[in-house]
Amino acid sequence: MTDEAQPAPHLQDDPQEARMRFLLTLRSRGVTDARVLAAMERIDRGRFVRGLFEDRAYDDTPLPIPCGQTISQPSVVGLMSQALAVGPRDTVLEIGTGSGYQAAILALLCRRVYTVDRHRRLVIEAEAQFAALGLTNITARVADGSRGLPEQAPFDRILVTAAAEDPPGPLLSQLKIGGIMVLPVGQSDAVQTLLRVTRHSDGYEYDELRQVRFVPLVEGLGQT
Ligand code: SAH
Repeated sequence: MTDEAQPAPHLQDDPQEARMRFLLTLRSRGVTDARVLAAMERIDRGRFVRGLFEDRAYDDTPLPIPCGQTISQPSVVGLMSQALAVGPRDTVLEIGTGSGYQAAILALLCRRVYTVDRHRRLVIEAEAQFAALGLTNITARVADGSRGLPEQAPFDRILVTAAAEDPPGPLLSQLKIGGIMVLPVGQSDAVQTLLRVTRHSDGYEYDELRQVRFVPLVEGLGQT
């Protein structure tokens, strides 16, 4: 059966079945890493999508969250986590906490996650979810992520979930030698390119992975 022939998960009665289909969709869209799939099976996206759109939590689609932001499409979360090649001993910086969903997945894959957002409300709500899930290895901060998090640098991995025109210099310099950063780059309102940057001792290597669409990386702190 093709994806198109299947009923949308929110039209089904059984939440177990909806979550099973969610995992099958992830696989069919290229998320094949066993650790990433296991983490996505464990973290219930429904927790991070509240209100009006809750019944669409297992659809492979981005959804609105407070402060005019979005929770990313699950298959993109999976593909980005996979491209980051996170190891169990890694320290990861995420820029753009949003709902906290991506950070929760990373928390199961590595030793420690630092996640920052420019909106205080989003950080507070995400922290409540981390606590409810017993995820004690995530530190969330209200900060302008385009400057990175100098006090905790350098990082093994950096994941940016908002689009900049170019990789921000502070993030490049806060990556360890041998470290990997995955980020969308391009004009904020157009299609962007997902880039993987690997830092070598003699410079940076850039790989273009696929087209994506993210909300823009905005400098400075938000009003709420
Ligand atoms: N990773 C999130 C989705 C993030 S949406 C999730 O799993 O739900 C992008 C987020 O980036 C938004 O919450 C937005 O507030 C944040 N953002 C945009 N510019 C930023 C900046 N300069 N510093 C920190 N966060 C920023």
